[in-house]
Amino acid sequence: MKTYTPMIQQYLKVKAEVPDAFLFFRLGDFYEMFFDDALNASRELEITLTARDGGVEEKIPMCGVPHHAAAGYIEQLIDKGFKVAICEQTEDPKQAKGVVKREIVQMITPGTVMDSRSLEEKENHYLASVTGFDDDTYCVAHLDLSTGESKVAMIATREEAIHEVVMLQAREVVLASDVAPAVEKMLRERGIHSISMMDDCHVIDSFAHLVMELKQTKLQTTMARLLHYAHKTQKRSLDHLQKTTSYHVDSFLRMDPNSKRNLELTETIRGNGKKGSLVWLLDETMTAMGARLMRRWIDRPLIDREQIEGRLTLVEVFMDRYFERQTLREGLKGVYDLERLAGRVAFGNVNARDLVQLKKSLQQIPLIQQTLSEMEASEMVTEASKLDPCEDIADLLEAAIIEQPPLAIKEGNFIKDRFNEELDQYRDASRNGKSWIAELEQKEREKTGIRSLKIGYNRVFGYYIEVTKANLHVLAEGTYERRQTLTNAERFITPELKEKETLILQADERSTELEYELFQILRETVKKEIPRLQKLAHEISKLDVLQCFATVSENRHYVKPTFNEERFVNIKDGRHPVVEKVMDAQEYVPNDCHMDNDCEMLLITGPNMSGKSTYMRQVALTSVLAQIGCFVPAAKASLPIFDRIFTRIGAADDLVSGQSTFMVEMLEAQHALAHATQNSLVLFDEIGRGTSTYDGMALAQAIIEHVHDRIGAKTLFSTHYHELVGLSDELAKLVNVHVSAVEQNGHVVFLHKIKEGPADKSYGIHVAKLADLPTSLIDRANELLIGFESGNKKVESEVKEPVDTLGQLSLFGESTPKKSKKPDRMKREMVALNVLELTPLEAMNELYRLQKLAQTLTESK
Ligand code: ADP
Repeated sequence: MKTYTPMIQQYLKVKAEVPDAFLFFRLGDFYEMFFDDALNASRELEITLTARDGGVEEKIPMCGVPHHAAAGYIEQLIDKGFKVAICEQTEDPKQAKGVVKREIVQMITPGTVMDSRSLEEKENHYLASVTGFDDDTYCVAHLDLSTGESKVAMIATREEAIHEVVMLQAREVVLASDVAPAVEKMLRERGIHSISMMDDCHVIDSFAHLVMELKQTKLQTTMARLLHYAHKTQKRSLDHLQKTTSYHVDSFLRMDPNSKRNLELTETIRGNGKKGSLVWLLDETMTAMGARLMRRWIDRPLIDREQIEGRLTLVEVFMDRYFERQTLREGLKGVYDLERLAGRVAFGNVNARDLVQLKKSLQQIPLIQQTLSEMEASEMVTEASKLDPCEDIADLLEAAIIEQPPLAIKEGNFIKDRFNEELDQYRDASRNGKSWIAELEQKEREKTGIRSLKIGYNRVFGYYIEVTKANLHVLAEGTYERRQTLTNAERFITPELKEKETLILQADERSTELEYELFQILRETVKKEIPRLQKLAHEISKLDVLQCFATVSENRHYVKPTFNEERFVNIKDGRHPVVEKVMDAQEYVPNDCHMDNDCEMLLITGPNMSGKSTYMRQVALTSVLAQIGCFVPAAKASLPIFDRIFTRIGAADDLVSGQSTFMVEMLEAQHALAHATQNSLVLFDEIGRGTSTYDGMALAQAIIEHVHDRIGAKTLFSTHYHELVGLSDELAKLVNVHVSAVEQNGHVVFLHKIKEGPADKSYGIHVAKLADLPTSLIDRANELLIGFESGNKKVESEVKEPVDTLGQLSLFGESTPKKSKKPDRMKREMVALNVLELTPLEAMNELYRLQKLAQTLTESK
């Protein structure tokens, strides 16, 4: 029986280590893939599939990508959620006996990419892990390998653990095989498909210092699992990893993923784009680090009053000092992504340009410090003192690297003159040699009288004297040794030229090597200072977010909120921050919201499209903004500090998980009812809409009663079930409000103004009319409506005959007799009346006449 060739056998052995990744197997200048990997990669990457002999009868499918272009292909695979294992030759082919040794040097996975092309600048890129314990508690750890930040938390239930992972937008989740099946299913249902297994969770020595301070072993185990995975995949220094901190999910304002989605905090519901979200509105940060921190703040608003007020105070200082703020913004603009630069230094993939960026960033710090001090506010002086400009690093890099270095670090030409004596010597030799060559060229021209004679250089032949064929006869015999023949010229070398060439090339080669050595020393020196750089990055990002809040608050006329312990909501002239920005500030109708201990719940009625959802969301967003430490879109705002916010929208389609819409609606409602406390804010938008009218209404009422009687959370409940407005008679703390609309010329005009009391009408049919539904259909709906409103729930089905242009309108709530044209006369008579022109007496007469007419029509039926 034939067997595979030694190379294919080697491939299969390595591949067995990484069954779930594409194996990029280095062969010469290519990374090759074989077997199924080749079939799949050729499809995913649209590259040509070929085949090669592998020692057995059938050819082996193969495809490959050039080594120098691999990064782009890897990026494509990672973006699609795949993993890639890089297998390199680990010995010199010249020394190798038999097949060259090859090993996996790195695994690139969606959660561990470090290549800046795959990293979203303004987003963290988390690798998370979930561990379940015997007592049914869970731990969630997360790590951003690009910045080195890691955190871990104990979480009470599996569902909440999943929520946490979804909220982190983890790119990849590492699980132990014992929790895997159940957790994996839930994660996949929520759109997280990149899942990896790691059962080893003992603490590796080199990472011990990162997790040592975690108090509970459960936390340590979970983080250790994650670190193990990072270690196993990256196989290199991860010195930039920062100490893992533990946190409690209850120390922040909690919002489950659906609530966040409904509030459009980081992306919009439709289109999942960033534009139109709160992050989009707020993004006035000047650095990528600031943008990422702001996102994290939005994900976790505070509940500690002192901390919130601390942030607000700083925002206020920035707000009041426009000019200094502008200078600060300019300074921040010059600060590159210190966090990720530090990560790349540790990882070993920085280049000279990165180090120049680092230097330039550090050189901005003194200016930033000075600007803060000039603000003449004690808080800012404190902030300034927290900044370490790392002058030693900045000075070192300034002395070492030229301003615009090339990308490659192995080809030299980026270290400054006078940085290193030995390097200067090589350079002198090389430069002198080069000027000597220029002189030689001149000398040869004079000697031979050939003006076109030139001295050139190429990699293969080295230095040469080039003479065109026409001038060859002039050259003296003997001294010129032929090296290369071109169509029109010959190239020669002389002993003198040869000697200098050796000198120059040696000097060039040595200086390139030395530059690389010096670069590595620089990198190691910077690497030792990573903790300082990370601390600086942290302080800078905080300042950036605070100035961003001040900038947005000033531009959009926000005010500083205050907080009260009585759980009062008092918002004067509140606005929905995003809707206001998108439409024109002039057109936005501000609304108050007042809720105290006698009003825990607002029942909001009003036509569709009048602004109920917008109003409810504006209250929630105002609270979120306040609790992240930003000013709020209102003329005045006093708020409670909410512990949780729930936002529920009736009948939201959840196609991802494939659950019935009504089931989703009820599951969401259940979650809110189970977890809301008296200190929560609950928004129910048209809940109960996903089922039949009576069912829905009954459920809506039961939910209202439950929240009112048993939870007491501040609740905004919008509904189109008018029947519910009567609840205010029974529920002491429920207050009716409505969004006003007026009817003009048969059209409804939305005023978007919240007013006391219930809405008197549902304007649904008018909205349908605005949407240009056919006139006959609108008429029929009006007819049915009158029937319903008069208590006759069963209106006869529509006549099948062609209707006249005015349709068939039942006047008295009676069903319209089929095929009878008689009531049409009645209708025409009424339509013809010009009521506004009638005197009261005439009106009485008309009414009398119409009544008579109606009687005769009914009798003659
Ligand atoms: P509903 O929930 O009552 O169906 P929405 O809250 O979805 O209505 O509002 C519909 C549209 O009305 C919004 O997209 C917005 O353009 C506009 N709108 C809502 N509130 C206001 C307001 N206060 N001022 C101006 N326009 C508003």
